[in-house]
Amino acid sequence: PRRLVVVGGVAGGMSAAARARRLDESASIVVLEQSAHVSFASCGLPYHLSGEIESRDALLLHTPASLHAALALDVRTGHRVTAIDRAARTVAVATADGTYDLPYDALLLAPGAMAVRPPVDGLDHPAVHTLRTVPDLDALTARVAALPADRPRRAVVVGAGFIGLEAVEALAHRGLDVTLVELADHVLPPLDPELAPLLADELRAHGVALHLGVAARSVTTGADGAALVTLTDGTRVPADLVVVNVGVRPASDLARDAGLTLGATGAIIVDADQRTSDPHVWAVGDAVEVTHAVTGAVGPVPLAGPANRQGRRAADAMLGRRTTPQAPVLGTAIVRVFGLTAAVTGASQAALARAGIEHEVVRVHGGHHAGYFPGAQAVHLVASFAPDGRLLGAQAVGRAGVDKRIDVLATALRAGMTADDLAELELAYAPPYGAAKDPVNMLGFVAQNVLDGTMPQWHAADLDAVRATHLVLDVRTAAEHARGHLDEALHVPHTELRDRLDEVRAAAAGRPVAVHCQSGVRAHIATRVLLHAGLEARNLSGGWLSLVLTH
Ligand code: FAD
Repeated sequence: PRRLVVVGGVAGGMSAAARARRLDESASIVVLEQSAHVSFASCGLPYHLSGEIESRDALLLHTPASLHAALALDVRTGHRVTAIDRAARTVAVATADGTYDLPYDALLLAPGAMAVRPPVDGLDHPAVHTLRTVPDLDALTARVAALPADRPRRAVVVGAGFIGLEAVEALAHRGLDVTLVELADHVLPPLDPELAPLLADELRAHGVALHLGVAARSVTTGADGAALVTLTDGTRVPADLVVVNVGVRPASDLARDAGLTLGATGAIIVDADQRTSDPHVWAVGDAVEVTHAVTGAVGPVPLAGPANRQGRRAADAMLGRRTTPQAPVLGTAIVRVFGLTAAVTGASQAALARAGIEHEVVRVHGGHHAGYFPGAQAVHLVASFAPDGRLLGAQAVGRAGVDKRIDVLATALRAGMTADDLAELELAYAPPYGAAKDPVNMLGFVAQNVLDGTMPQWHAADLDAVRATHLVLDVRTAAEHARGHLDEALHVPHTELRDRLDEVRAAAAGRPVAVHCQSGVRAHIATRVLLHAGLEARNLSGGWLSLVLTH
């Protein structure tokens, strides 16, 4: 019988071990996990902190005993692998009771990632926590429970990434006053800046104080005995607890010390079968390097979905079965921020720019279901397309329907779909659920019009240049115009445009016309009217809504 040894008993490692047993009843499968817990729901930790998942036990999906009973796995917690002897094919294991060597025929490394410690003085202050493991969660919940209820309880969260935002929401849910500190100039750095103000507004509306574009410099003890977080701009924020989540790095030390090949980002390099540079060693999850499906960039993508799928694939490979060809990673991710949802898939505009990939950006602010059905909420969608129409990436923020759109777009990306394909997608529709022209279809329609020249567009980010060279034409209603407008814009509601073309032509005085409405739909009609009249015209992508978000 083959001897399979798995290092790391959570997402990737346990997926592999379970799949391996289902494929091979006779193999010896040992899972070595350094912590006291296996198969726990990392992703659920913030929701026990918030109190939404009431029972801590709900996060512990399995125990060594349950895994033995169901899958005949030999799961050893409190067993840390300290070295790999590749020549002898053994791993050295350290336990509370001493050390031992364990032989393997196939070794799977699924050690995950480690929290990055940012350069902040005083990170060992007792008020400082991180949120990665069950003990981290226990320490945080104990600290929150111990805080006096008769005065405001204050938390500082450092890092506004996915987990940082989940921590903010959880602590606010527990009734703490939360301050969020983020080095980037906007919350949720994987999101392009333009949709981030929606999240910032939502955070502030829930009482969260934001410090963007600054870092935490030190954590000390203030006069009242509580922690004092000093920021790089000199601001001092008192805190009863501090949560630091500024990203992770691959836990690849074991692999490096064993001489396995690592990539430039420090992650373990694996082939399409998850095999490392040693033919008897496989690796999965947060510790390995993946290729981004759109940009081709290589590096770790620390997400649970890829880790689980890679674990399954590695089991197949270790047992010599046909493996599912590894799909490049899209980085599809989603987070709830109080009443809003933000989600991304594929390449961001920033990543496309870094990779030098030519693209057109289109924006749709559509309803999550038919506007005439009560309760429609805006889905703010931004997507990028290659000149040949291929979808390259999408981001969405809204109060409802964001998960559905981003998953459709992630599937479209995986299938290599184009603007034409999105336009033709047949999505489920009845008024409570969607629209006959879903926002995803609309993205396709708009991209078709942009890419084939039917609708030239301009972007809010180019406002200054456009103002200097174009006549700006606002085609919204008088009421919308009264609520806010660009000073120099000529205001002609789109319903009056055909009768007032001479006025527009005179005001343009030979300049092209930069049209805008509220979201881009009416300005598209207006742009077409102007183009038919022989004027050069373009439509503001995403309209006034995108302009306000950008400026
Ligand atoms: P892990 O699941 O981290 O497992 C690695 C295990 O290996 C650890 O238990 C570690 O103790 C053990 N180990 C390491 N070295 C050794 C050694 N030498 N010997 C023995 N054992 C060792 N992803 C999403 O996609 N969506 C989410 O909503 C989401 N939310 C998250 C929320 C939180 C709070 C956290 C921390 C993560 C979240 N993630 C989320 C990320 C997701 O949990 C990880 O991408 C995933 O768990 C990675 O799987 P893995 O198997 O590579 O590593």
